[in-house]
Amino acid sequence: MASAGGAPRIDRFSPTAYIAAMALREILILPDKRLRQISQPVAKIDAGIRQVVADMFASMYDAPGIGLAAIQIGTPKRVVTMDLAKKEDPKSPQVFINPELLWVSDEMAIHEEGCLSIPEFYGDVERPAQVKVKYLDLEGKPQQVDADGIFATCLQHEIDHLNGILFIDHLSKLKRDRVLKKFTKASKRAAE
Ligand SMILES: [Zn+2]
Repeated sequence: MASAGGAPRIDRFSPTAYIAAMALREILILPDKRLRQISQPVAKIDAGIRQVVADMFASMYDAPGIGLAAIQIGTPKRVVTMDLAKKEDPKSPQVFINPELLWVSDEMAIHEEGCLSIPEFYGDVERPAQVKVKYLDLEGKPQQVDADGIFATCLQHEIDHLNGILFIDHLSKLKRDRVLKKFTKASKRAAE
């Protein structure tokens, strides 16, 4: 789906610039308590943050996924990576640092969502159809973007992560309890 208001600003950031330093990091899985942590704003975009971003891209592309929040690799910082390019198209990596929703539409839309922290589980989530988000790019410059379609859904899903919210929180209690139970059992089995 296309974005509203012309082409969204894409950060022209090449993940290959960091390839020597990139590391695959383990993605936290439900019911890991760290996923419920509230992430801290990034005060300064330094080498440490650039490392986190590089690791996030490596881990996201490896999974593979279209969006990742830093807390999903265990780093409680307000950093989101995303790539919504279709498989056959060139990569289109985007970074959102300290993203904030400035506006959401009254119009709602339903998309099927999944999460790298809740593997192989999908559910229909209703969210505002359009959003306006402000954030810092990797150079620390303030940016704004208007999003709709899958882009709007993905931004809201990832910003939720920064606030300790998972997409299953938007489902019915019955569905949420069922998936929680399944993943809790699996993690106990893995620990045995
Ligand atoms: Zn997620």
